[in-house]
Amino acid sequence: MSGALRLRPVLLVMALAACSPSGERAVPGGGRLAGAAAGWNVVLVTVDTQRADRLSGYGYQRRATSPRIDTLLLDSGVRFARAMSPRGATWPALASLLTGLYPTGHGVIRNGYGLPDGLPTLPLLLHDAGYQTGAFLNNMQSANHSGWDAFHYARGDDVRLVRQAHEWIRGLEPDRPFFLWTHLFGPHSPYHMAKLLDEIPGLDPDYDGPVKMGKVALDRILSEGIPLGEADLAQLDAYYDGAVLATDRHVGRLIDGLRTAPGADRTLFVYASDHGEALYEHHEYLYHACSAYQNVLQVPLSIVAPGLLEPGTVIDRVVELIDVLPTLLELLGLEAPAEQHGVSLVRLLERPDAGGTERPAFSEYDDTAIRTVMSGGWKLIVNPDAVDPVCVPGAPDFPFPIEPLELYDLTADPGETRNLAAERPDVVDELRALIAARFAGLSDRGREQDIPEDLRRELEALGYVAN
Ligand SMILES: [Zn+2]
Repeated sequence: MSGALRLRPVLLVMALAACSPSGERAVPGGGRLAGAAAGWNVVLVTVDTQRADRLSGYGYQRRATSPRIDTLLLDSGVRFARAMSPRGATWPALASLLTGLYPTGHGVIRNGYGLPDGLPTLPLLLHDAGYQTGAFLNNMQSANHSGWDAFHYARGDDVRLVRQAHEWIRGLEPDRPFFLWTHLFGPHSPYHMAKLLDEIPGLDPDYDGPVKMGKVALDRILSEGIPLGEADLAQLDAYYDGAVLATDRHVGRLIDGLRTAPGADRTLFVYASDHGEALYEHHEYLYHACSAYQNVLQVPLSIVAPGLLEPGTVIDRVVELIDVLPTLLELLGLEAPAEQHGVSLVRLLERPDAGGTERPAFSEYDDTAIRTVMSGGWKLIVNPDAVDPVCVPGAPDFPFPIEPLELYDLTADPGETRNLAAERPDVVDELRALIAARFAGLSDRGREQDIPEDLRRELEALGYVAN
């Protein structure tokens, strides 16, 4: 069968028309997938700090890091090859998933900030539609969340998080659909999850260098500018990949335990990460919040819908995390909020090879004017105020210079090593115009917020040095 679509006729009867923000029908002629998952359960599995290119299912070959995620969430549904996060920091990115808005649109521009009262979010919308809603999180624990019947923060312990989610599932009413969100701490530095493995593949037991699985040691590399050589970077890779593999097992156990949930065969799964991780590629930087490069902004994203979406489909188009909310709502036959920055990907799901113009993807950067755009194989980073961003509050004083203009040819130079801004002013102008057009007139709720001291301490306890 070609394409991603395999529609059961009975579901056509259930198909509901979804409306676009402008009020037009979002599915001219009656799209086949719009509303096809009406009444289905929704399971959103997000993993912190998961680089797309470190999952086996995204082509990573140095070691097998994701056997269960590949089988359960990538190969069994539709995988987006080029999905982009709007910010390399947890809370802003996750809030964008929940709202379909860029960070300034929902106001959670930094970790520790809260969502505005009453802003439509996925849990609020699904709760209003009759869903039982439960969040089990290992980050973003206190962002003025609403719409959740059950809300648990597992303090960075993914084992506990999976157990709590399973307990909640067992207590659900069988005749109402549920929305479950789990956010696993996963491969977040200092990569402690790797300790759960009997053996970290590729780790050198005799290594005695500066790379250690601990916040203090990793901080020192940044604050003291300790240079890392080949053996150090191999050790760093092993820790990160080990944490990915350990997380893979948790995700596998999580989904295994959902097989007996009410309506298990009518469940939409969405798998994504909030952002990736910098592993010393640029400016000798570790962690993520400073980076506006692809190692941090490109994320895995897949949607699984048994019987609706063809397993193993890969969509090689640029999409954004802000597209998830409108996509889910259209599949479920629910109306999207009037204010949306993302677009539904249902047309792409119906015709993955349809072609047409690719949309650009954008990102923001806290309360600065730094923006990025990725379009037509190019990536532009603009820093019009030439600010030296404080991207790691409370962490080692570490310089991460962002030039006023950085232009990269992602096809020829996927590692973003050669700035072509001076050589290609024509491309720079074109991409700057895209940024100006994209952000002109968008709502801006990105105001300074106080972060309570106890929350700040909790974030530090999670292992935070970077956002
Ligand atoms: Zn994160």
